[in-house]
Amino acid sequence: MKSIAIIGGGFAGLIAAITAAGQNPDCKITIFERLDRCGKKILATGNGRCNLSNRQAGKLENGRLLHYHGQAPSFANHALAAHSIDDMIDFFKQLSMPVRFEEEKLFPYSLTASTVLDVLRFTAASKGIRFCLSSPTSQIKLKNEKFIVDQQAFDRCVIACGGKASPHLGSDGSGYCLLTQFGHQLSPLYPAITQIKTDNTLVKQVKGLKIDAVVSALEKNHLTRKEFGQVLFTDYGLSGPPVLQLSAYVVKSPKNCMLSLDLAPDMPFHDLLSLLEQICKSPCMRDMKTDMLLSTLFHKRLGQIILKSTGFSLSTPVKNITQADRKKIAAAIKDFRLQVTGVQGFSNAQVTLGGILTKDFDDKTMESRLVPHLYAAGEILDITGDCGGYNLQWAFSSGCLAGEHAAKD
Ligand SMILES: Cc1cc2nc3c(=O)[nH]c(=O)nc-3n(C[C@H](O)[C@H](O)[C@H](O)COP(=O)(O)OP(=O)(O)OC[C@H]3O[C@@H](n4cnc5c(N)ncnc54)[C@H](O)[C@@H]3O)c2cc1C
Repeated sequence: MKSIAIIGGGFAGLIAAITAAGQNPDCKITIFERLDRCGKKILATGNGRCNLSNRQAGKLENGRLLHYHGQAPSFANHALAAHSIDDMIDFFKQLSMPVRFEEEKLFPYSLTASTVLDVLRFTAASKGIRFCLSSPTSQIKLKNEKFIVDQQAFDRCVIACGGKASPHLGSDGSGYCLLTQFGHQLSPLYPAITQIKTDNTLVKQVKGLKIDAVVSALEKNHLTRKEFGQVLFTDYGLSGPPVLQLSAYVVKSPKNCMLSLDLAPDMPFHDLLSLLEQICKSPCMRDMKTDMLLSTLFHKRLGQIILKSTGFSLSTPVKNITQADRKKIAAAIKDFRLQVTGVQGFSNAQVTLGGILTKDFDDKTMESRLVPHLYAAGEILDITGDCGGYNLQWAFSSGCLAGEHAAKD
């Protein structure tokens, strides 16, 4: 009877185990998990709702996967096609878990992450998969073509230990050495899907305020990615969905990156300019100080930092503001610039950018090219998705391939 060790009981490990058991019910499958329970991170996903996947997961632009990063994101092409979002929907349907979409994003019908974990755990248990909990694996030995894990011998081994992000949820980076010990290489690691630190001189004055904005990431003044959504000002910089999404684009070279916020995205520059002119001429504003100029457009404190960013004295009377000044102010509203200084660390990050290089793995099977019968799946590999369900889809697709092939004769 074939035996398989799966190191890491996260989404990828559980999917690999269940797929292996489905492929070959005679396999003896053991999951080694460092925490006292499996899938703790799954419970935190999607703000507790578990955003399982995204219809855009396999989308290509100029032949490259649009929503995945890494030294060779195209490594994920086969897995994402072979075990796509539709396959994920079927997989959960067979386990009696219905799903639903919110726009392009896939969720469990219950909108509750614990449903997903329960379904996976109960299915694994019903298939006779053995759990070794509170069992951190620090070394795997290869002896007579068997993998020795915790003094037990296995025919196949799947490494699914995740990355370094959110270590309190299990993945503390200890899995990388299980692959590097066999000669696999690790790319530089960065925290991603996390808050961005910026020059905070102005933003800390509006800490706690939220606004819908288009946020553009610029590297050496070239646009790298643009996102729309709710931005939260904090004392260290910015947070909110569009900011988390952009973190992967600024993390490698923060000093060369700026964020540009369009704080009135629904208003073209010339409409804004006309509006500012109208405000300046209105009888109730003419004799006011400039600090009130933007108070009908934005929260007062936000209006003030926009004006400060243009170098305006807030005590200047509104009637003294010229057309050239108004152009400067409108430009600051449409392109509010912040110098990036870094991102929040791994403890706040949702994913790790970087990982074990994929060049030494077979993209059709997830098997190591260096060590036969050794497999890897999920975030431990150098494939990172954007925010929006792309990472769980990758963990699913790669986990299915690894489980399927590990269980084959
Ligand atoms: C707060 C948060 C929200 C997120 N929301 C979403 C979302 O909505 N949609 C989405 O697609 N992605 C989301 N992600 C990202 C997604 O959760 C991960 O990319 C995905 O879970 C990775 O799966 P994995 O199985 O590869 O790794 P993990 O889920 O990290 O699982 C790895 C497992 O291995 C165990 N382990 C680690 N080292 C060892 C060792 N040495 N020995 C034994 N066991 C070990 C860990 O304890 C862990 O249980 C979110 C992440 C976070 C932190």
